[in-house]
Amino acid sequence: MRLVILGGGESGVGAALLGKNNGYDVFVSDKGKIKKKYKDVLIHNGIEWEEEQHTVSKILNADLVMKSPGIPDKTVLVKDIREKGILVVSEIEFASQFTDALIVGVTGSNGKTTTASLTHHILKQELEVGLAGNIGDSFAKQILEKNYPNYVLEISSFQLDDIVAFKPHIAIITNITPDHLDRYDYQFQNYIASKFRIAENQTQDDYLIYDADDDVIANHLKKHPVQSTLLPFSLTKTIENGAYIDQQNINITIDNNKIIMPTANLALEGKHNVKNAMAASTVAHLLKIRKQTIRESLENFQGVEHRLEHVVKINKVQYINDSKATNVNATYYALESMDSPTVWIVGGQDKGNNYEELFSFVNQKVKAVICLGVDNEKLISTFGNMVDTVVETESMSEAVKIAYKIAEPGDNVLLSPACASFDLFESYEDRGRQFKNAVRNL
Ligand code: ADP
Repeated sequence: MRLVILGGGESGVGAALLGKNNGYDVFVSDKGKIKKKYKDVLIHNGIEWEEEQHTVSKILNADLVMKSPGIPDKTVLVKDIREKGILVVSEIEFASQFTDALIVGVTGSNGKTTTASLTHHILKQELEVGLAGNIGDSFAKQILEKNYPNYVLEISSFQLDDIVAFKPHIAIITNITPDHLDRYDYQFQNYIASKFRIAENQTQDDYLIYDADDDVIANHLKKHPVQSTLLPFSLTKTIENGAYIDQQNINITIDNNKIIMPTANLALEGKHNVKNAMAASTVAHLLKIRKQTIRESLENFQGVEHRLEHVVKINKVQYINDSKATNVNATYYALESMDSPTVWIVGGQDKGNNYEELFSFVNQKVKAVICLGVDNEKLISTFGNMVDTVVETESMSEAVKIAYKIAEPGDNVLLSPACASFDLFESYEDRGRQFKNAVRNL
């Protein structure tokens, strides 16, 4: 079998190794440059590869193509491959054929990394479990090298677009808000359908955990019922089978088996993180992790870098790095969780943002808006009349210095951009690190 892998990144190279190990004749092709560390792996394992080009004749000779999630379906090459009748799959589809492990799959527009990491953190106290997908080492590589009996996978819609038989035993959909619509013909419906593919191969022996307060999810489920056993979670209503909040406690009931845990000591702040905690603990309860373990794990979870990360306090001002908030909805939850006046650093590459949902929080909590990015105009015209101080800056260090001057003891300085980072930074990680460095240099 000839396996062609498009994209020589983490998932592509992982799949190449797994494929080679299982007898495939593997060829990796990347239109860009392949990082040295991945090239070394390919060379060391005798896997054929090319970079900065696609040799179409060779690619169209494949029996199976694995496509990296970053490559859109619309590219001519991918269209040609499909037209020739060659099956195109994603890495999770390809890799999952080679394991019988129990899989927990986490998707959604926001909260995937946090929920997947928290779930893994709880499960690993009592089970052998790997964390993969969009996090860390690829799923394929871990199957080859670790062969865990359980995996928690963070799964993007792009990975789900190219599944065939993949199914997690336990699926989570954290929430669905418009994102990445450029890859879905600007049709929100297509993006929703893509997220729900996480449940498409599930049967009633499998579980779908989801946010019952999310109307997009609830409406989709009404119109397109799934086979899976449903375990919703809610902050606002009582849930018979699933999780809800009652007097500051998380209540989880699965087949009449109930656990109750206080929310007061959750390590992660913010309502959105109560939801993430409910989703993660529902998985843990399903997998029979002891209640005491779940409770302790929720209390001692260290959080994930760039997600409402408390950097340092200077002159009683708390500096918070939420660089991963690359859309308005993520920033909504960040602002919601601010419990004191906030100097807000926002901006970057606008994705057609509508800031309306932030208005009430900005009115209540934000004392200054510091705009940092290429698309400042919309921010200035939107918030100029709402907040006394709206400033424009061109660099992170300047933004942080201005925030430092404005903030008074007891305030927060929050970087939560609501925008992509690619205007001034390499990535959201780079943006978050620059923020932290600038804060530490104060
Ligand atoms: P993802 O992996 O889906 O991008 P992350 O866990 O990295 O999500 O979180 C990204 C941002 O989204 C965080 O900075 C946080 O402010 C926000 N967020 C986290 N969990 C949720 C949630 N359940 N609902 C809405 N926003 C969330």
